[in-house]
Amino acid sequence: MENLTKQDIRALSLGELESFFESIGEKVFRAKQVYNWLWQKSVFSFNEMTNISKTTRLILEKNFFINNILIDFQQKSKDGTIKNSVKLHDGLVVESVLIPTSKRITACVSSQVGCSLDCSFCATSLLKRMRNLNPDEIFDQVVAIGKQSKLYYNRALTNIVFMGMGEPLMNYKNVLSAIQKITEPDSLGISPKRIILSTSGIPKMIKKLADDKVKFGLAISLHSARQLIREQIMPFTKKFPLEDLMESLQYWYKKTNKPVTFEYVVWEGINDKQEDIDSLIRFCYKIPSKVNLIQYNSIGDSKFIQAPQIKLIEYKKALENAKITVTIRHSRGKDIDAACGQLANKNNELSVV
Ligand code: SAH
Repeated sequence: MENLTKQDIRALSLGELESFFESIGEKVFRAKQVYNWLWQKSVFSFNEMTNISKTTRLILEKNFFINNILIDFQQKSKDGTIKNSVKLHDGLVVESVLIPTSKRITACVSSQVGCSLDCSFCATSLLKRMRNLNPDEIFDQVVAIGKQSKLYYNRALTNIVFMGMGEPLMNYKNVLSAIQKITEPDSLGISPKRIILSTSGIPKMIKKLADDKVKFGLAISLHSARQLIREQIMPFTKKFPLEDLMESLQYWYKKTNKPVTFEYVVWEGINDKQEDIDSLIRFCYKIPSKVNLIQYNSIGDSKFIQAPQIKLIEYKKALENAKITVTIRHSRGKDIDAACGQLANKNNELSVV
């Protein structure tokens, strides 16, 4: 109840925080100190802000609150991947994953509770979208995984991918604001070059990313370069046809000079024909791009069966012959349902619909 009159302090910019300090007759530089506690040291209580006087801490306490996430449940895969159930301040749960490899440690973070898109091969689509995550909730997932990375692997986090629950471009403002905080030198200072935003492909928002001159990478969940096939497996794409998607990607490339990555699963009887390969090649020719052939992680729907390795190799060879960069990606954390498309809060009754 008390929270109704208080404000979320992390919704304030540094400038707004400075104005607040001015308004209470406090030195303005103190605002920066508080800002550092919030965004660099990630404390969840005003009491921990030891270089701020007790009186000021009490004033902050009276006017603001700090929302915090809680790692509710953790599972570790045989391959070292760690899946976290992250409890939000209102009790809802999302998942985020730490993926260690010899070269990098990647945090895979969620941007929404559930998802409003309806990709029929994705476990998250079974959960209705309950709400967008706030910037601090996205930021806190990165901080929490960064801590785990140090604790379990004695290494710092190197990469961040927006491939957890939700469609990041449907929560545009908060995702961008979180990325700004993650990359700010005064905060986590992670280079935007080490961040990838993955989207199912919302043309208008891709153009907006380009207009906003973002510095991070863009991945598109393509899965088919044939409109009718894509519509069957990702029904929402009826509204966002491939032609519009391509136009937005060309706009993105013109403005950012950054190639895009296409994520692509090959399923038996769905997109495993020569015509599918040829369409993908034609699509890739229109934009500097590379293709990641990712493994299908079963969600128990018998319509979707991962094509055999030989088919993936056929795809790979055809793309390589067409001079398109392609990699076959192996899944991580499959034994704990932490792989792409498997995030569905299985361990939490709250989100099962
Ligand atoms: N909504 C965003 C981000 C979340 S999904 C997007 O669609 O890009 C992250 C990636 O996992 C996407 O490429 C998605 O297509 C893929 N994916 C979803 N379900 C999957 C599954 N069951 N197996 C393998 N990949 C899956």
